[in-house]
Amino acid sequence: DGGKRPDYLSGLNPEQTEAVETLEGPVLVLAGAGTGKTRVLTTRIAHILNTGRAFPSQILAVTFTNKAAREMKERIAVLVGGAVEGMPWLGTFHSIGVKLLRRHAELVGLRSDFTILDTDDVVRLIKQLIQAEGLDDKRWPAKQFAGMIDTWKNKGLGPGDIPEGDARAFANGKGRELYFAYQQRLSTLNACDFGDLLMHPIAIFRKHPDLLKEYHGRFRYILVDEYQDTNTAQYMWLRLLAQRPKGELQNVCCVGDDDQSIYGWRGAEVDNILRFEKDFPGAKVIKLERNYRSTAHILGAAGHLIAHNEGRLGKTLFTDRRDPEDIKVQVHASWDSEEEARAIGEEIEQLQRGDATGKRHLLNDMAILVRASFQMREFEDRFVTLGLNYRVIGGPRFYERLEIRDAMAYFRLVAQPADDLAFERIINTPKRGLGDTTVRALHDYARARDIPMLAAAADMIETDELKPKARKALFDVVQSFRRWQEMLESTPHTELAEQILEESGYTDMWKNDKSADAPTRLENLKELIRSMESFESMRGFLEHVALVMDAEQNENLDAVSIMTLHSAKGLEFDTVFLPGWEEGLFPHQRSLDESGRAGLEEERRLAYVGITRAKHRCHIWFVSNRRIHGLWQSTIPSRFLDELPETHVEVAETEQSYGGYGRGGGYGQSRFDKADPFANSYSTPGWKRAQQNKTDATRDNWGTRSGHAVEHIGYGESGPRGRTIDG
Ligand code: ATP
Ligand code: MG
Repeated sequence: DGGKRPDYLSGLNPEQTEAVETLEGPVLVLAGAGTGKTRVLTTRIAHILNTGRAFPSQILAVTFTNKAAREMKERIAVLVGGAVEGMPWLGTFHSIGVKLLRRHAELVGLRSDFTILDTDDVVRLIKQLIQAEGLDDKRWPAKQFAGMIDTWKNKGLGPGDIPEGDARAFANGKGRELYFAYQQRLSTLNACDFGDLLMHPIAIFRKHPDLLKEYHGRFRYILVDEYQDTNTAQYMWLRLLAQRPKGELQNVCCVGDDDQSIYGWRGAEVDNILRFEKDFPGAKVIKLERNYRSTAHILGAAGHLIAHNEGRLGKTLFTDRRDPEDIKVQVHASWDSEEEARAIGEEIEQLQRGDATGKRHLLNDMAILVRASFQMREFEDRFVTLGLNYRVIGGPRFYERLEIRDAMAYFRLVAQPADDLAFERIINTPKRGLGDTTVRALHDYARARDIPMLAAAADMIETDELKPKARKALFDVVQSFRRWQEMLESTPHTELAEQILEESGYTDMWKNDKSADAPTRLENLKELIRSMESFESMRGFLEHVALVMDAEQNENLDAVSIMTLHSAKGLEFDTVFLPGWEEGLFPHQRSLDESGRAGLEEERRLAYVGITRAKHRCHIWFVSNRRIHGLWQSTIPSRFLDELPETHVEVAETEQSYGGYGRGGGYGQSRFDKADPFANSYSTPGWKRAQQNKTDATRDNWGTRSGHAVEHIGYGESGPRGRTIDG
């Protein structure tokens, strides 16, 4: 290009430079965490724009979340020195899919103003179809079929493509028929589901080569971040757009890390990495080995851990980062999760006041990454008590979750019978045949007499204004609330809470729910009961929750981030806290039960993702006891702890840790036990021996079986390529 090298190129290492400057032909950047893959993509786009090779609208760039897309846009603007006028095709697979489909909806029989159905809509629709077929929807639950359709669509399979066995697996062989009927129905409704946002464009491109050609002309450069977590449908879509006729250049660049593939349970295919070189012959494969994010200790710990996985491509990583403090990865033990939250809170406040070198840290530079969303509760509670700002990323805060709000509504109504909002929320949850008509009647009755709705209900069951069925159902509800209210003073509140959820049928509602996120919701409900234990009374607890809910969630506030490991992908923080490293929780029992060795390896990759988010400090925590239903149960330290190398890890001496807990017999043998943390040799990992003594307790704690091939961990944005759609 003649002139002086632009600034944005000067900081790159030779391999990164090559990845940025190889603009023609297919490029695959395969590299470990923190090696600058995302930075390469961003710089590449800046370079394309800056050298005038393409307009912003001629670049197709795929990120994993909408948030990542926004950040990338901002970074590009900085690099090219000024706002970029639009980048319409920068987003998640789904958001780009919507845009394509709006333009060409008529080609698949939709209008451009089609609606996108959410999961609830989809399930309702399927239920109607199942009933219309004369099938028993209890035996063949709509949610289960919705899950099957989602899986098929992730694999790019339409109704005509699904394997015979799959089709037979549902409704006595009616699976395919139902799938056809479902698509037909969507079309009549001028609607599509999430899977269609990819499936329809694929169908359109296949059927209309001219149109595809047009897009080939438009998208001069194609880029994909977090490539290891693409599913088959996404890959098909990508291949259609990126593969060009012989003689034409295929300017496609994908970056990824097989060790960070953590969405296998949602259909991601890490093999797409291997297919890339086959499908794009002559692809230049670039490896980045220098990590710019983490200290040698953090990298060493993560590298040693992930080396325990068999199915990996393998790569080396090094760092030049020298830190004055040279801190190893710290492993902490706590008695229980309450103490864990307290200790992490103290550590955070200590860093705020100043670390060993006197440096003060911002809360913005710290994150707590949990395996399961229920773990967030303890931290949220603690931080509210401390007055420490926090934000929950990628999902609702604990007390804002649907199942928690429902349960809280029951408790509120018992303690405060005039709480009409609570009444309306739960009167027909679970379903009792008290629909809108009944609620409206109750509402009118209550308004006319200026009494609460629960009181109105008690009155109305004495009249004949309601249909007998509704009256009977309402009678049961009123009786139940009377009983619970009487128990309020006499029964321990946790016991009462549990009883309310059982007797109201609320717990059963989720137990009978076949959807993928039901087990997580049940876990959260258990956690809710547990959280009440530290309060004197139901009222005290309700007040506390009102306070927590009131805590500000201000984007601009300096705040600790709390999120699941799954939503932490691609992010980095100076200090990372990783709590709950215990067998059954992490690795999660459900993954082990359902996917065996593959499940374990995916869990281990998740641990690798967690550790590699840290720049300077990585604190791992495990507790010796978890309280389940008011019963203490011993835990076993995660096997991942024993897979960390001694050279990069040390057991932190926190004041409370090694004082007074004995874990009796078999548990005392992990090298992370109190007495002599490093006494055991590596050849016989402590957890293995501990496992020989393992009781069923751990399984019972965490092994909520769902009978479903996938699980859902409560986070929003990081769905399959960003389930939230911006554009
Ligand atoms: P992950 O696998 O976690 O997504 P990544 O490979 O995408 O990581 P980036 O997030 O792009 O890595 O980069 C990690 C950190 O290293 C960022 O803070 C980035 O700015 C920095 N970095 C990358 N390349 C360089 C470089 N050449 N010089 C200085 N800093 C760099
Ligand atoms: Mg990245």
